[in-house]
Amino acid sequence: MHIILIGAQGSGKGTQAELLAKTLNVRHVSSGDLFRKAFAEQTELGIQAKAYIDRGELVPDALTVSMILDEIQSLHGIQGTLLDGFPRTVAQAQALDRGLQRIGQHVDTAVYLAVPREELLKRLSGRIICRAHQHVYNIYTHLPRTTGVCDIDGSELYQRSDDAGPAVQRRLDIFFNETIHVLDYYGAQHRLIEVNGNRPAEQVQTTILQEIQHSLTPTALFSAPLPHKMLTGEADSPYSGFPS
Ligand code: AMP
Repeated sequence: MHIILIGAQGSGKGTQAELLAKTLNVRHVSSGDLFRKAFAEQTELGIQAKAYIDRGELVPDALTVSMILDEIQSLHGIQGTLLDGFPRTVAQAQALDRGLQRIGQHVDTAVYLAVPREELLKRLSGRIICRAHQHVYNIYTHLPRTTGVCDIDGSELYQRSDDAGPAVQRRLDIFFNETIHVLDYYGAQHRLIEVNGNRPAEQVQTTILQEIQHSLTPTALFSAPLPHKMLTGEADSPYSGFPS
């Protein structure tokens, strides 16, 4: 089972992806995290990608597509993925379909987290994340207990270079001018779910799970049963604070 989560930066996509992956028992694959990891390890891919990332631009499709397809192929024995941040262009979506088809798999559904642009800007300008695991805080709405230190793993908190200055506007422009067409691609194939992401994170999560349950084939669902408590919203909220 492969599920795609589409949302602009600051839409809460990362937080929702992590929770969904746990609930559906699939692997969370984030293209942004893979690039950051590659740069931290100083691989050629990481160094090449970093220049684009710092400018708030998309990394070229050739680099991005092969990185994601390699990652999917390497996940032997994993029953599926939750793709976060990929695809961001129609060409990437088409390449993903072709790549999955070659290994007898397909995208089951794409979920779009819709949040207005002004709200995204507010969230992004206050966002800080931890070096170790990218746990997310916000200087306006979700402060850590100790300034500059992650509550969960004690690592340093920092603002991503692409969350500040003109790079933020550029990233949002790319989303609303380019990535938005990926919605048409999946919509035309009746594989798109749109969810209002401008609500508390728990409500967003419950709606996504309900919508996914309606859209998935019985076979896909059988391999990843959704806990009743999550679907009804009775489960304890695994988060506090603002979505990433
Ligand atoms: P994210 O953490 O998803 O916001 O990604 C951070 C940055 O990585 C983006 O602003 C892009 O520069 C790059 N990136 C991540 N995913 C992709 C993608 N699917 N295509 C091209 N560039 C990407």
